[in-house]
Amino acid sequence: MVKTDTDTNMIDLKGSIALVTGGTRGIGKAIVLSLAKAGATVCFTGRSPEPAATLEAELKSLGAEGRFFQGDIADFEQSQEMVKSIVKEFGKIDILVNNAGITRDMLFMKMKPADWDQVINTNLTGMFNTCKAVVRPMMKKRYGRIINISSVVGFTGNPGQTNYAASKAGMIGFSKSFAKEVASRNITCNVIAPGFIATEMTDAIPEAEREKLNATIPMQRMGTVDDIANGVLFLASSMASYVTGTTLHINGGMY
Ligand code: NDP
Repeated sequence: MVKTDTDTNMIDLKGSIALVTGGTRGIGKAIVLSLAKAGATVCFTGRSPEPAATLEAELKSLGAEGRFFQGDIADFEQSQEMVKSIVKEFGKIDILVNNAGITRDMLFMKMKPADWDQVINTNLTGMFNTCKAVVRPMMKKRYGRIINISSVVGFTGNPGQTNYAASKAGMIGFSKSFAKEVASRNITCNVIAPGFIATEMTDAIPEAEREKLNATIPMQRMGTVDDIANGVLFLASSMASYVTGTTLHINGGMY
């Protein structure tokens, strides 16, 4: 197996407490594992508890610390309670990764207000809710790393995704403004905009369609969940301590 920088422990997050929203599968799960391998204690959330037990066991087998907190980030009160419980148990939150997100894709002509609301409430308001909950504890400690997972379509647009692209573009405007408000307290806030990433979701695309999709990517392949987790690791590390209010594009050259 090829050794990576993560394997050599170049990034050391020992003593850090991280919270990853939507950490139970896909990109979020890879982020949880990479932060844990770098030494952080990682709390992760999701609405459904089933996949969480497997990940908790995986973390344990790595000798890493991690805990699942069930809750809906679209719900303001639940988000506040979730963060309160983490701070009560672990004393602080150093790293927040707003990763939880959903799609309700359809052409605008067919889109119902509920399809708009669900996507905006989860992807954009969910990020507001968790930032609102962590900002005080982070300010108190004069330290914080906030990483918001947006999407390439927040920059390019995509037919069938007016709701999703709006939510992802909104995350960028939020992060740039928030970064300016909290920079003097040593809190950074950055965005990662993934391109097409191979997950369970994209596995379901028929082979022929996937090939067509790959042909639109200059690197001729989808990204891996680890490509995104590596970006998070960098932005969470001391190597990125002077990086704030920016977007890291991880998309194989698509944009
Ligand atoms: P998945 O659908 O595989 O995972 C989403 C995660 O978010 C799950 O853990 C899910 O758990 C959780 N989640 C969803 N809604 C909520 C909620 N209201 N409250 C708490 N947790 C929630 O997504 P991906 O891994 O594919 O994507 C992760 C992020 O990356 C998303 O923000 C997505 O928009 C973004 N992205 C993905 C790309 C891709 O190609 N996959 C490309 C660009 C961006 P549960 O359902 O149990 O709540």
